[in-house]
Amino acid sequence: MTKAYKTLDDMGEVRGKRVLVREDLNVPMVDGKVTDDTRLCAAVPTVSELSDRGAIVLVLAHFGRPKVPSPENSLALVTKPFETVLGRPVRYIDWEGAEDAVAALQPGDIAVLENTRFFGGEEKNEPGVADRFAALGDLYVNDAFSAAHRAHASTEGLAHRLPAFAGRAMEAELDALDKALGRPEHPVAAVVGGAKVSTKLDVLKQMVTKVDHLIIGGGMANTFLAARGVNVGKSLCEHDLTGTAEEILDAADRANCTVHLPYDVVVATEFKPNPATRTVNVHEVAPDEMILDIGPAATEALGDVLKNCRTLVWNGPLGAFETPPFDTATVALARTAAALTGDGSLVSVAGGGDTVAALNQAGVADDFTFVSTAGGAFLEWMEGKDLPGVAALAR
Ligand code: ADP
Ligand code: MG
Repeated sequence: MTKAYKTLDDMGEVRGKRVLVREDLNVPMVDGKVTDDTRLCAAVPTVSELSDRGAIVLVLAHFGRPKVPSPENSLALVTKPFETVLGRPVRYIDWEGAEDAVAALQPGDIAVLENTRFFGGEEKNEPGVADRFAALGDLYVNDAFSAAHRAHASTEGLAHRLPAFAGRAMEAELDALDKALGRPEHPVAAVVGGAKVSTKLDVLKQMVTKVDHLIIGGGMANTFLAARGVNVGKSLCEHDLTGTAEEILDAADRANCTVHLPYDVVVATEFKPNPATRTVNVHEVAPDEMILDIGPAATEALGDVLKNCRTLVWNGPLGAFETPPFDTATVALARTAAALTGDGSLVSVAGGGDTVAALNQAGVADDFTFVSTAGGAFLEWMEGKDLPGVAALAR
């Protein structure tokens, strides 16, 4: 099937061509050491392939949130770690004299250009900045899905100035997201959890129109329970949003989307590791208790829902998973989803900072069909928004 955007397969002969490749090299660093190289690893397939094909590979990326150019936000710091992960030489090119440095490169060479955000106009998508980047290259590849929800010069403006292609990581992400919500196999289930309704309103509204089963867990389930007249005690709950919760439940009804709220929950009077807990029906929460996880009966019922579904998209943990034992439901349901994925009966896609952490904690991140580490871009995609960096790649 023809994709909506061009990929590295559509680039033709690239030998000797200068290819500007937007990657996400915004890695966490402590004392000059990269503490999580996931993003560097994600850049490897595209950069290696283009280098193998004889392109002059010029990596564009941002690093941190510099207000003005500063050494601690220099991508020179990331060049060595990237070289290690890539297993081949990587040069660093400063903006000053970049034209000459690029002109000296040979086919197959790889260089990381300095932080795109050293130009004040990068984040404003200023034409002059995109022009400046474009002058350094012949072709443009965007491989940074995680930066695609921002219309910046290096993620959007540049795509209108040079022939533009999706890199391999971008392509894999878009393929997975398309399978999960673009053209999914039904029935589709969504798990939406996490702390608050207020941060996921648009996600919930969008899911209601897209999926057959909406599973609501986490702190936000408390607001929905409160909307249904449940006394949630001292639980995290946005009482001012119960009206909104009711609207979402009504919209779900109209759209034939079945909403699953927990009917048993795990409660405690103190929020600390391994406190005394009770497992109770949602109608039995005492005034001084907090709901911190969904209960075993609800978890088992949700597993049965997933068994009858073909597709799952998951954002947000079902409980306060960082604090034992309130990771129990999240871990159990994640393992069920992983097993069903292994059996070939479920396509499972998950994303979100805490969700990825929870799936890692459950030891199943590799057993899902796809786990997105894109954070903001993943959420905006779940909200049904057009991502400017992706839209700009349209054929
Ligand atoms: P993500 O980062 O995957 O999008 P969120 O940031 O929305 O997820 O939500 C994760 C947070 O929600 C976690 O810190 C977790 O402890 C919290 N949370 C989940 N359930 C509860 C609950 N019942 N009470 C309080 N906090 C909760
Ligand atoms: Mg979070």
